[in-house]
Amino acid sequence: MLDHGFVRVIDYMGDDSSIVQAARVSSGSGTKSAEENRRLIRYLMRHAHTSPFEMCEIKLHIKLPIFVARQWIRHRTASVNEYSGRYSVLGRDYYIPRPDVVAVQSTSSRQGRGEALPYADANEVVGMIGRNADEAYRTYERLLDGSTDPIRPGLARELARTVLPVGFYTEWYWKIDLHNLLHFLELRLATDAQYEIRAYAEQVAAIVAGWVPLTYEAFVDYRLSGVRLSRAAAVAISEALTGVHVRRQENGLTDSEWKDLKERFGFVEDDRA
Ligand SMILES: Cc1cc2nc3c(=O)[nH]c(=O)nc-3n(C[C@H](O)[C@H](O)[C@H](O)COP(=O)(O)OP(=O)(O)OC[C@H]3O[C@@H](n4cnc5c(N)ncnc54)[C@H](O)[C@@H]3O)c2cc1C
Repeated sequence: MLDHGFVRVIDYMGDDSSIVQAARVSSGSGTKSAEENRRLIRYLMRHAHTSPFEMCEIKLHIKLPIFVARQWIRHRTASVNEYSGRYSVLGRDYYIPRPDVVAVQSTSSRQGRGEALPYADANEVVGMIGRNADEAYRTYERLLDGSTDPIRPGLARELARTVLPVGFYTEWYWKIDLHNLLHFLELRLATDAQYEIRAYAEQVAAIVAGWVPLTYEAFVDYRLSGVRLSRAAAVAISEALTGVHVRRQENGLTDSEWKDLKERFGFVEDDRA
């Protein structure tokens, strides 16, 4: 993952059939055909009947930059054990973005990237990041090493680590149930998620697709590629479908809602008085 990271499966429990089994326990119905199982999983996904998906769990070992970990840890419904910079010396791996993903601050989103930098400029940025990280790691090693100064013993690891920037890698075990994992994927596969965590989410999504293919298919159809509409947006679509010209002012759609709707459905506004 990225330049030094990885995602690997340590363990998992359950699969598509565990979800079907849990959903059927209430009705007491027995084994059904594969197509009926698929239909049931799609029904559960469509109607947000989420508890059967909690019957599956997965445990991953992940190596990721600290700034990605800070976003990832906000998903509170997982169990986590992280490599300790108090017990152990941190590795020298740090993240350097590829030149093609180096971009300026976005002007339309306050927390995103805009235009990519020209290759030469991007390379200069990459060089700056690398030099900064190398220097930080040299300082870290100097602080840990008491041998060069007979009076000063090596600094405590828990303090020495404070000089390392957030591009350095950490590692953790991350265990989560499938329901909460899908929520994580929905948020972190979205185009407004930061590229670096999205790259990890794509890898985790590929693992989920292989583990619970029927659930993943339903997730893509109903949640990832499905659309949730506001009242005003639903009215606008219904008007368009019935041949009524859409007037967004009357529908109360905001500029950004209108922009989303236009991009998604190719709307054309009727600006006649
Ligand atoms: C694109 C993007 C930008 C973001 N930007 C910022 C930012 O600028 N600043 C920032 O601080 N965060 C930011 N976040 C983090 C975001 O606010 C959430 O903390 C994060 O996405 C985790 O979502 P969650 O709470 O739904 O997930 P989880 O923590 O996994 O929780 C899953 C669900 O469990 C329930 N739940 C869990 N804990 C509680 C609780 N204590 N009380 C009530 N319900 C609970 C909720 O229904 C929640 O949706 C951003 C996230 C994304 C995807």
